[in-house]
Amino acid sequence: MSYLRLNDGDTVVILGGGPAGSFFAMHAKGLSRKHGIELKVIIIERKSFAAHGPVGCNMCAGVLGGNIVGMISGLDIAWDSRVIRQNVEGFKLNMNGRDALIMRPSSKVYTVFRGVGPRSEASSEGFIGFDSFMLEEAKKSGAVAINGTVTDIIIPQNPVLEKCIVTYKDEKNEAHELKAALVVGAFGVNSSLSRKFGFGYVEPEYWHTCQTELMAAAESDITRFINIFSRKNSKFLFTAVIPKGKYLTVSGIGWHVKFSELMDELRILNLDSVMKTGHEAVLSPVCHCHPRLPVTAAVKPFYTRVVMIGDASVSRYMKNGIESAFITSRWAAETALLKGVDEAAFRDSYYPGCIVKFARDNRFGRIMFFMHRAVTYSRRMNSAVISTIRDEGEKPEGKQWMSNITWHMFIGDKPYRAILRSVFNIVEVMKFLLRVTGIKKGKI
Ligand SMILES: Cc1cc2nc3c(=O)[nH]c(=O)nc-3n(C[C@H](O)[C@H](O)[C@H](O)COP(=O)(O)OP(=O)(O)OC[C@H]3O[C@@H](n4cnc5c(N)ncnc54)[C@H](O)[C@@H]3O)c2cc1C
Repeated sequence: MSYLRLNDGDTVVILGGGPAGSFFAMHAKGLSRKHGIELKVIIIERKSFAAHGPVGCNMCAGVLGGNIVGMISGLDIAWDSRVIRQNVEGFKLNMNGRDALIMRPSSKVYTVFRGVGPRSEASSEGFIGFDSFMLEEAKKSGAVAINGTVTDIIIPQNPVLEKCIVTYKDEKNEAHELKAALVVGAFGVNSSLSRKFGFGYVEPEYWHTCQTELMAAAESDITRFINIFSRKNSKFLFTAVIPKGKYLTVSGIGWHVKFSELMDELRILNLDSVMKTGHEAVLSPVCHCHPRLPVTAAVKPFYTRVVMIGDASVSRYMKNGIESAFITSRWAAETALLKGVDEAAFRDSYYPGCIVKFARDNRFGRIMFFMHRAVTYSRRMNSAVISTIRDEGEKPEGKQWMSNITWHMFIGDKPYRAILRSVFNIVEVMKFLLRVTGIKKGKI
């Protein structure tokens, strides 16, 4: 079957310079060099990543696991140590006030800020935001980055014969047009651009989450580990507290979270005692935002000369969104450069991977989080989870059944199907049930 191909001199316009947009640019530039195709790759990004606070930030918890760090290094990128805010030592699970620590010295987990830093910061203090670093790398690979807001996309009646038109406004509010042989939608789910495509694209459904940055008391344990709090009767699926040097990023994950509810939750969790005093109020946030978290896959994220990637297409449920952006952008670039840019090429070569790796696997993720939620409602069950993890601390990593399940659910890179499969270990399930019934006792 012959597909519509990109030609020498064609322009690819990427809508959005978050991780997916920058990754796509780097993949496309690398492939075009390798296969001798002369492509102009243009990224249009509305934010200035040099600005402090949400206006210059793509708003996330900023946890990077070993997989994505390795994948980025594989693009021949030398990590700049100024991007990394902290190398995290482990992960603490707290259920209804009792906690257990999971240490993973063999796994590299880093925390970053997506922007340059919280609103309160007067200077970058020598740090670089993750998205700004990636965009610079995309530019080094040969892509052009324009600071502007995309306002419209016109897909011609016959996109096989004619190219798309992308309209954007620059910093001076002047309108411009670009003719694109391929339009790449990397605008995430915090954008109105999703409504500009008439071919049946429907963006993923999302939750309205809430995040805040707080100052941490240096002596507190909370600054060493990623902390996940789950609580009975909470409207939050979980609350994550992520250490980033002198800051803590708090992500309240729930269907529709208000800032005041997140603050109340922190008080209920008794977290005011570990935040830095010396501010007017103990829980004095230095920044906050309301990012959307995609929870389903997009409908029809492709058409002739158009493909969606990253959050605008599909990403792993509740974790590893940046890794998902890397993978979908690589698949889309490979399809566009090695197969073609028409609807059939994306349907045959790009979309099946998105469905199998992410959309289907996310069903298992939903089951895992449903089980997690159910466990928080049973005192016996969550006591058994905590005491199992505590007891496993003395075992080698490979034999830590509950710890590995919990680690991979929240932090690790494993697909949910593989995590769920590892739950069904008859011996461990029996031991766990003995704990639940109180026959076997563990560390309390
Ligand atoms: C609370 C929360 C915590 C998270 N924590 C993590 C985590 O710890 N680790 C992880 O890997 N993932 C995490 N994620 C997921 C992660 O943030 C996303 O998966 C990732 O940012 C997706 O990248 P993207 O490039 O597809 O979209 P985005 O990062 O949203 O980037 C889209 C870009 O498009 C630009 N844009 C939009 N509209 C326009 C326009 N009209 N014109 C020009 N530019 C435009 C935006 O400014 C933005 O820069 C979290 C998400 C949430 C909500």
